Amino acid sequence: MNSELGKLIVLAIDTSCDDTSVAVVQGARVLSNVISSQDEIHGEWGGVVPDLARRAHNERIDAVIEQALTRASRNSGEKINFETIDAIAATYGPGLAIALEVGLKKAQALASEHGLPFVAVNHMEGHLLSALAQNSRGSGQIRVEDLRFPLLGLLISGGHTEIVLMKSFGDYEIVAQTLDDAVGEAYDKVARMLGLGYPGGKVLSEMAKLVSEKLARPDEMYALPIPLNNDDRLAFSYSGLKTAVYYKVKQLKESAGGLTKKQIHNFAASFEKAAISHLQQKLSMAIEKFQPKMILVGGGVASSAKVRAGLRKVAKNLELPIFFPSNNKLYVDNAAMIGVAGYFKLVRGELARSSIDRDPRASISKAA
Ligand code: ZN
Repeated sequence: MNSELGKLIVLAIDTSCDDTSVAVVQGARVLSNVISSQDEIHGEWGGVVPDLARRAHNERIDAVIEQALTRASRNSGEKINFETIDAIAATYGPGLAIALEVGLKKAQALASEHGLPFVAVNHMEGHLLSALAQNSRGSGQIRVEDLRFPLLGLLISGGHTEIVLMKSFGDYEIVAQTLDDAVGEAYDKVARMLGLGYPGGKVLSEMAKLVSEKLARPDEMYALPIPLNNDDRLAFSYSGLKTAVYYKVKQLKESAGGLTKKQIHNFAASFEKAAISHLQQKLSMAIEKFQPKMILVGGGVASSAKVRAGLRKVAKNLELPIFFPSNNKLYVDNAAMIGVAGYFKLVRGELARSSIDRDPRASISKAA
């Protein structure tokens, strides 16, 4: 094992949903972060098909591990292999059971084959700590020694919408979550209603960007409800907003036979505006209640520049520092964030029982 803690090298695997990802990190430095996307497989089904995801993970995992080792060696200038790696980490949950199983079993087999410690990581702890990930030269958004507790983590993705209160490493509590759909799920569903394909959340976001505040005439924006507006529950909800879009789109399609390009753009912008207002309101509410010293944001929905700008505004108004992951790959599901979270668990001595099983409904509130 490398003598200095910050030099420890971890190989991490995440197969929690439909992307096969393997990364190598040294401390919080990301030496490689390979993501093999399965979008083209699931796209034609309009959603993730668990059986197909498992098969693709199985077919790809060995090649993705090889690629992660090769890239890590190139980026660090040193040979990275199972002789130089100090530990193996993998996501044990939450996620799709049969998909999680592939990465977890592979990681456990590698750890036992090479006599390495194994760390089981909660996928949401990965997203929570993703802003700590540094590039291969060691620069990033925030260093671990600059974290101030308690802090709030806002995790917004296709599978989750939650606010986590973090009092220290390993001490997490979900203080707000969605009552129905996750925000990223709503993005994808609305994108499909607008004929933007699957997964279309990102396309929708790009379209909304085109309709900048200056260009959109207020009378061309659609009046959509901000979820749980004037409701003092600290929770999220996206199904009502999604349904409101559905009926308005249906009405327009019936009266005009279809949507014009301009209407699609305006719907995208109107939806995103309401979705962001909801995030802003509930984040402000959580800040008032828990008085955190800083905010960390993670998850694919935050890769939208408009979402980030909206959240920055909240933080600025309340004079709080806010941090986001430093590159696009760190927002979506990726193994580098699992490696970083795994590294901190390794340093804390939190090794997994070798028999630990996948847990599709694992909560970040409970330690593995
Ligand atoms: Zn995720």
